Amino acid sequence: MSKCLGGNFPRNFLSGNIPSEWASTKLEFMSLETNMFTGTVPPELGKLVNLQNLRISSNNFTGRIPDFFRSWSQLIKLEIQASVQYSLHINCGGGATTIGGVKFEDDTDLGGGAKFVPVRPNWGTSSTGFFWDTNVTSTDYIANNASILGMENSQLYTHVRLSPLSLTYYANCLADGNYTVKLHFAEIIIRGNRSFFSVGRRIFDVYIQEKLVWKDFDIVKEAPGVDKVVIKVTNAVQVTNKTLEIRFHWSGKGTTASPRRGIYGPLISAISIEPEFKHSKTKTYILVGVSIGALVLCLLLIFGILWWKGCLVDSQTLREEVLRGLDLRTGFFTLTQIKAATNNFDPLSKIGEGGFGPVYKGILLDGTIIAVKQLSSKSKQGNHEFVNEIGMISCLQHPNLVRLYGCCIEANQLLLVYEYLENNSLARALYGPDDDPLNLAWPTRQKICLGIAKGLTYLHEESAVKVVHRDIKTTNVLLDQDLNAKISDFGLAKLDEEEKTHISTKVAGTIGYMAPEYALWGCLTFKADVYSFGIVALEIVAGKNMKYRPSENIQCLMDWALVLQQKGNLLELVDPRLGSDFSKKEAIRMIKVALLCANPAATLRPIMSEVVSMLEGRTAVEEVILDPSIHGDEITRLRAFEEQFDQSTAQGSSASGSHSLVRSSDAPWTGSSVATTSSDLYKVYSS
Ligand code: ATP
Repeated sequence: MSKCLGGNFPRNFLSGNIPSEWASTKLEFMSLETNMFTGTVPPELGKLVNLQNLRISSNNFTGRIPDFFRSWSQLIKLEIQASVQYSLHINCGGGATTIGGVKFEDDTDLGGGAKFVPVRPNWGTSSTGFFWDTNVTSTDYIANNASILGMENSQLYTHVRLSPLSLTYYANCLADGNYTVKLHFAEIIIRGNRSFFSVGRRIFDVYIQEKLVWKDFDIVKEAPGVDKVVIKVTNAVQVTNKTLEIRFHWSGKGTTASPRRGIYGPLISAISIEPEFKHSKTKTYILVGVSIGALVLCLLLIFGILWWKGCLVDSQTLREEVLRGLDLRTGFFTLTQIKAATNNFDPLSKIGEGGFGPVYKGILLDGTIIAVKQLSSKSKQGNHEFVNEIGMISCLQHPNLVRLYGCCIEANQLLLVYEYLENNSLARALYGPDDDPLNLAWPTRQKICLGIAKGLTYLHEESAVKVVHRDIKTTNVLLDQDLNAKISDFGLAKLDEEEKTHISTKVAGTIGYMAPEYALWGCLTFKADVYSFGIVALEIVAGKNMKYRPSENIQCLMDWALVLQQKGNLLELVDPRLGSDFSKKEAIRMIKVALLCANPAATLRPIMSEVVSMLEGRTAVEEVILDPSIHGDEITRLRAFEEQFDQSTAQGSSASGSHSLVRSSDAPWTGSSVATTSSDLYKVYSS
């Protein structure tokens, strides 16, 4: 076959696809420019391994430039110019996607230290620089977010292109004129919810047509925040030689070293280039646009009516919409991601079971270890509680609170994804099975007690929304690998934004930890948590469950503490496993604080910031000697209630250990209603 077969067919009005039969192993020259060929460049041309000169510019080819061109070492000249374009939209680092009728082109080519990638005939990228602090792979130049982002058009921000030094996008074949350039950014790598990820600061410069447009640009500052979108717009960008160049350049500012690659250097999510002038195609587009718009309007109207009548949206979708509308500071996960992380909810991954349902351990693709709380859709904690819990937890962030990474609402599944805490619950550490002893030393107990107090101070006094936890107990305190305490399970908590005192109409908590005024009359204030904290603090000192009875006539740990207080021998309460290896001063102080907190009179209990101050030894602890003749009435009634509860559950099938109570009626409580039949007023489920 001739070396010049198909060699000279320029300007011949040839149309259709390039015939694949033209592929010949001998061909060295091919000129097909300025014709009317359409379709993609056929992959069969890859067989033309002798080709030295290929001209196929000024046709109407679509699709990507085939990869084989890049490996042809013999190719001296390649002209693949596209036809003139008037706009360009690129989903940087991500796949092709359409948003509001605008097609964002695919940009998933792997990057490299010094690389020019002519991705399409009409645009390309150039990247320079190596990440110096790690072994480099070509996948380092694209980053993906592990969870689903909650912002609008999240497909533009889930994948981003990165460069440690300089990243340039070239738009070719643009008709000369003025353009509006929109640059879409969202910081998805330096995120607050991943320990060391949050330390980085990304600062870079943005040049358009070689002109510095934004100096020291900081996405997080501008958005503001991580996972938040910022779109920067520049008008009147002049194109005079068919090319528009956008360059992102790291000039050495911000983080320069980090345990995680890609913390420094530019990041871009998407680029939009739109003409500021009318062109011949515009009219046609306007006509088509108007017709499509009218059609869409009609369809919207029909769907709107159907939606209004409730024919289209199921509760699952509604719940998802409500959640997305909450602007949560947390991510969304797909069911596929969670299944992959937990090995399809493998029973071997199950680490516990609480009132909500089972809890699984999992590992995300990026190596993050998670705890997944699976709420069955039939769970008593239904949609309302689920939305409530997520909305609330997502804005509560403190070192002594378990961190919520995100949630998943798919296929009738309600899942909460938390940080995984290696050392399980405080209950297990204090009085768990003998085969798993943590042997908490005294300084650790002091640290844990203080940590819980600080977490509660945050919830009660420092967070944006003030929260009563309502179910503070040792199983709701988890321990991380350094045995720091983290309070978990806000599902039962209730917002209390405006008033300092709040009478709740619903009682939820665990007997033994519940403040008397809350258990008996449903009267809920922050002091109910202070009471529960007092019980937990006693358990920490004693290393025993609050139900512990050293003898027949002592009802519980609290009773024992009161008896020892009257005998003047508080130290007998200290966990014998500690031997003499503990600070007597701190132990006495902790017991006194516990007794102060567990005072039956709510008003006499300290607030949590005072508790912190006392535990740290900054404030003296006032000693309370509880007088049963004053407070005994409430205690006796609570015990009577507890006995009644125990009897009713003993008659039932499975309840044992600690129990959670949820009042069935939403009607306000009165003392007399409690006095009549408490069993009518409570729905009981075992935990
Ligand atoms: P209840 O629902 O009555 O409050 P609970 O607090 O034990 O009981 P869950 O919070 O559902 O219930 O937790 C069940 C168990 O799962 C815990 O005791 C703990 O062992 C484990 N667990 C829960 N969350 C985590 C986590 N983030 N990291 C590690 N383990 C966890």
